[in-house]
Order: sequence, then C-alpha cells, then structure tokens
Amino acid sequence: MQEYLELKEQLVASAQELTQKGYLMATGGNISIHPANSEVFVITPSNFDYMKMKPQDVCLLDMSLNQLEGELKPSVEAGMHCEIYKARPDVHAIVHTHQVYASALTLIKAPIPALFDEQVRFLGRSVEIIPYAPSGTGMLSGTVAKHVRGHNNAYLMQNHGALVFGHDMERAIHNVEILEKCSLAYLIALCSEQKVNKIPLAVREIAFSKLRKDQKKSQQGEINSAGE
Ligand code: 13P
Ligand code: ZN
Repeated sequence: MQEYLELKEQLVASAQELTQKGYLMATGGNISIHPANSEVFVITPSNFDYMKMKPQDVCLLDMSLNQLEGELKPSVEAGMHCEIYKARPDVHAIVHTHQVYASALTLIKAPIPALFDEQVRFLGRSVEIIPYAPSGTGMLSGTVAKHVRGHNNAYLMQNHGALVFGHDMERAIHNVEILEKCSLAYLIALCSEQKVNKIPLAVREIAFSKLRKDQKKSQQGEINSAGE
C-alpha cells in the first residue's frame, strides 16, 4: 500500500477535481494512471461515489488485470484502460467521461475535424468516433485498442462518452477541458447550418508536430509520469 500511496492519492484528487468540474457525474466515467516503466496501473473502483473515495478504495492492477491491492471491484472498463496502455506506450493517464457535449457528438457520429490550434496541439489532428460496443465488454476494449493506435489523445465513443489521454494526469484533465470546449463550439457551429471552417493545413501540421514531440519524449520516459 505504502509504495503506491502517492499514486492512489493523486487518483483520488483527480477524480474529485473532475467530479467538481462536472466531467464525471453519478457513476459515469472512470480514470487510471499507469506510471512509466511499471507493470501496474491504478484505477477507480466500479460504481463508487468519487467524492467519498479514499486512497485505500483505489484498485491496483497488473497488466494481466490481476488485482494486487484494494478491496473494491475495479471499474468495469479496467480491461479497456489496460488495452490502451499496451497500445500506446506514450500514454500514462486515461480519463473516460460521459461529459455532455462530447457525448452529444457521439450520438450523431460526428468526428471533430481540426477546428482550433490548441485542439490539434493537445488532442491530435481530429477527434475520431470509435464504433459502438456495450460498456464493460471485451468487445469494447478490443474495438478501442484498434482505434487508439494513431497519435490522437481524445476519442468519441459512439452512444457512450469520451476517452482522453495524457502523458500524465494533469495533461489528461487539461485535454478533457479542451475536448468539451471544442465539442460545444462545434455543436453550436453545426446548428447554424453554415459552413464550418477548419484551420489551415500547414498550421494543423505544425501544431500536431508539437504534440508528437511530447509523445515521443513521454514514450522514452523523458516526461515523467505523474505520481512518480
Ligand atoms: P464503472 O463505475 O465500473 O467505472 O463504470 C462507469 C462507466 O463509465 C462504464 O463505461
Ligand atoms: Zn462509460
């Protein structure tokens, strides 16, 4: 317990911050941290009030989904988080939310093109749709693992919610906020029924190359994962 206490404390603080900001609500959503060069990850327990969560409630799992610490049942999406860490060595923190505006875009299967510089800088060239699969199933983790192999840090899960990554939890939370702002702006623009303009291609590529630089550093362990 002591070895991972700081990591668990960070997960609790992050879940509570996301709840207070309105991104995690009721029992929707879950978050995890996978420290660089480790064979474990910490994840929120299933169906649990994040505002009442204590570090000892956090689940510690290995990369074969064996539960090493914590009495509570881990999130039903633990398999999905684990598959993402295996597919994306640059990712050390994952936030899955049912945030409202991004969720609205999943209902009309509208991927978000490159609309803003900061969107591409932090989320990638576009926010793609991951096809529907029921929550908490192997079918969902398999579909997600296939779709996140690109270099984007945010995805929309059809008829479900959002999936957001970071090289640490601080960046993942920042990315959740950018995604929600872009989703709302895009929804309003779509409602206007006018042409939605994208940023120039050259600007998109410059912004994307900055994100790729961060990701390469993270993969090489040069950006330390949060909690280490
Ligand atoms: P958990 O409470 O098991 O994490 O499930 C919430 C959820 O968002 C399922 O997709
Ligand atoms: Zn969910």
